[in-house]
Amino acid sequence: MASRIFNFNAGPGVLPEPVLEEAQRDLMALPGVGMSVLEISHRSKPFDEILQGCESDMRRLAGIPDNYRILFLQGGATLQFSMVPMNFLPPVGKADYVVTGAWGQKAAKEAQRLGGNIAVLAPAEKENFDRVPEPKELQLDPAAAYVHFTSNETIHGVEWPKEPNADGVPLVCDASSDIFSRPIDVSRYGLIYAGAQKNLGPSGVTLVLVRDDLLARSPKALPTLLDYNTHVKEHSLYNTPPVFGVYVIRLTMKWLLAEGGLEAMGRRNAAKAKALYDALDASGGYYKPHARPGSRSNMNVTFRLPSEDLEKRFVSETKKAGFEGLAGHRSVGGIRASIYNAFPEAGVTALVSFLEDFRRRNG
Ligand code: PMP
Repeated sequence: MASRIFNFNAGPGVLPEPVLEEAQRDLMALPGVGMSVLEISHRSKPFDEILQGCESDMRRLAGIPDNYRILFLQGGATLQFSMVPMNFLPPVGKADYVVTGAWGQKAAKEAQRLGGNIAVLAPAEKENFDRVPEPKELQLDPAAAYVHFTSNETIHGVEWPKEPNADGVPLVCDASSDIFSRPIDVSRYGLIYAGAQKNLGPSGVTLVLVRDDLLARSPKALPTLLDYNTHVKEHSLYNTPPVFGVYVIRLTMKWLLAEGGLEAMGRRNAAKAKALYDALDASGGYYKPHARPGSRSNMNVTFRLPSEDLEKRFVSETKKAGFEGLAGHRSVGGIRASIYNAFPEAGVTALVSFLEDFRRRNG
């Protein structure tokens, strides 16, 4: 088998090796089926078993209550930026968007495009999106249709330590880059969505968890495919779903349960992130973490070096050292180490040594 390097990509990102191995082993023919998962009908019994197995493992893994539906959609997290307001924001209504980075900003813009009355909250942009707001800074409107936030801002590396308290207003969360990276109390949310390509599986499938009572809000005139009710009624099988994506998520759910579930994952992710932030903090200011303590992401560790030239040299040397994906997002520059669930501890240890070595040679 070709050897694997340490993959720090932000998404699509690293997947668990046992998941890739099982997918590879069974790609030619699913055991007992004699055909590939890529070749069977989405309405066949084997696919039904994959879908049901995926759902029931996910419910067990994350403690998803019975009054939440699990949907597998297409269009990426980006389509959810539109579907959420289309379904849940009435023409005379208003929604609060707590924006802590580039993705939340896009979500708010998309809701505004639809003519929605949107309040953008949080002081974060002025401060270059380096933290989440304190509860006392958040004046949420109790009459809002929903409150939208991004649990982890993938580009800025800013993560909420805990979801905001929306005081009874439905909380809508873009959890694309930290879903199932730690325990989550789903009952505190109205809707959670996540593109799969970081912690769940391949791109092309988007997970949506939605609370039953919100579904009555969708206007009747929505295009069929953009109405959550369509997908709820048809169990994500209104049209051909992204079968391979659902299959890989199914394998990932099995892997997460075998690894000890979300508590274990949360502990492991916190330890990996701490090792990296500790190394950055101990560099005497040579490496400057972007996010402030208390808002630092355990998934995307973002930092700067003393100059852009040094950052270029850093990225080019990491490639030679066998690391991939460390250049920051094109919109903000700097360095970003994405260390999702499947990213191994050994890769963090290797990067920590590299950080020290690079600073010694270029300090
Ligand atoms: N939200 C967040 C937090 C993301 O990180 C991304 C993609 N990196 C998106 C939304 C957009 O997702 P997609 O490409 O699946 O539309």
